[in-house]
Amino acid sequence: MNTESVTNQVKFDEVFHKCNWKYTRQRSVLLKNIFSGPKKHFCVNDINDDLKNKSIFFSYTTLFNNLNDLVDNKFLNRIECGNQYFYDTNLSKHIHVYDGDKNMIFDLNDYEMLNKEIPIPACLKLLDEYSLIINIKKVNGE
Ligand SMILES: [Zn+2]
Repeated sequence: MNTESVTNQVKFDEVFHKCNWKYTRQRSVLLKNIFSGPKKHFCVNDINDDLKNKSIFFSYTTLFNNLNDLVDNKFLNRIECGNQYFYDTNLSKHIHVYDGDKNMIFDLNDYEMLNKEIPIPACLKLLDEYSLIINIKKVNGE
């Protein structure tokens, strides 16, 4: 089974077509990096580091523009958090938690599982706003 494109049901040919991209190996690796494996959140720097490890180099602007194309064509969701952008391969509406200590975005459900000691109000489960971000930073960094 080809798990590469199955996981998120993204067909790379379709991405190149819809984004009006010329085929390059860099972009192909970029797409593999983003869409293979489980659904995930990332920021531009995460992807940049991953690509550098594979000896694929984009200028920051080009990388950013490529990610914008993916957002515009609904292959990715962009989450604005303060002055930074995070990207999500999960296109469904869900609530995010921004962990200021880790500088990472989590889905609310995952965050609760990982941080059982933090009581998150149950009423938040009733919300259905994709844009809602709960910003958490522990006061006494324990
Ligand atoms: Zn998410």
